[in-house]
Amino acid sequence: MGAKQFIKASLQAGAALAGRHRWPGSGRHLVVLMYHRILPADDPRYALEQPGMVVTPETFARHLEWIRRHFNPVHLADWVSGRFTPGKRPACAISFDDGWRDNYEHAYPLLQRADLPATIFLVADFIGTNRDFWPGRVQRLLAHGLDAASGSEDAAWLTGLMPGNGEGADVRERADRAIEALKTLPDGEIEARLSRLEAAAGLDTADQSPVMLDWEQVGAMAGDGLVQMGSHTRNHRRLDTDLPPEELESEIVGSARVIQERTGTAPTLFCYPNGDRNAEAERLVRSTYRGACLVSRGWNRPGTDPFALNRIGMHEDVSRSRIAFLSRANGAL
Ligand SMILES: [Zn+2]
Repeated sequence: MGAKQFIKASLQAGAALAGRHRWPGSGRHLVVLMYHRILPADDPRYALEQPGMVVTPETFARHLEWIRRHFNPVHLADWVSGRFTPGKRPACAISFDDGWRDNYEHAYPLLQRADLPATIFLVADFIGTNRDFWPGRVQRLLAHGLDAASGSEDAAWLTGLMPGNGEGADVRERADRAIEALKTLPDGEIEARLSRLEAAAGLDTADQSPVMLDWEQVGAMAGDGLVQMGSHTRNHRRLDTDLPPEELESEIVGSARVIQERTGTAPTLFCYPNGDRNAEAERLVRSTYRGACLVSRGWNRPGTDPFALNRIGMHEDVSRSRIAFLSRANGAL
């Protein structure tokens, strides 16, 4: 272990041992953990996914044990409404973003076994379809199709986003670089370019097996009360840009309507894609829901604005050991 790693490990151990989960009087505080996908390391989907998006089922099962041991597990909606019994330990709520199919396949059985509650924030118009988000489409294009489409202006544009045109890097690395560069561009431009590239590469998205949950899976999970559904818009539009007013309304208010129609229960919580929001988006969210999550890292106190809840992102690389998990959950490192 080098000096730097030693210092980091010592700080982590200190944070884990003296962390907030041990502070007296922190029973009304809340940590919200943010997950995306739960995938086994040998699943082909794991190899393509960005590291920041995934936790393996083995690691997730351990997280659940540690949550049970060191925190007071609550439904996020119960903390927001104040309908929870504060314990000696801080409250902890589990959240999943987007509504990935693996949440049902791999996370739900573990939540059931541990009897721990969670909230899944659904991108309503993706549920029950074989649509994928644009980062997944970039990964697929680079893995299979981009060479077939090369020579086109769009292919040159995509590879041009990667330093050195991505030469010498493996597919996942090239995809990661392209995704980071694309995040600064408007959603509409990304969509249009990727659709043209897919058409040129002969990648028919209709043939693709679904990556998102379907409504039966959503219904099965919501049915036993262990998993509650929140809204994460209809199409994962970033809500800080100049969306036409009717589209903004559809993403925020319309998504609640879709989820209510499909599940019979109106969602009370919202989650902003990338945490992005403008004043009008905030106004619509406040008039439709009882609380909203951001991606800013930190804890929540009784005085925290319920429409600006902080979360702590969990992914495999940073949460395999108990000390790494607790120090991250404590927001220390
Ligand atoms: Zn998202």
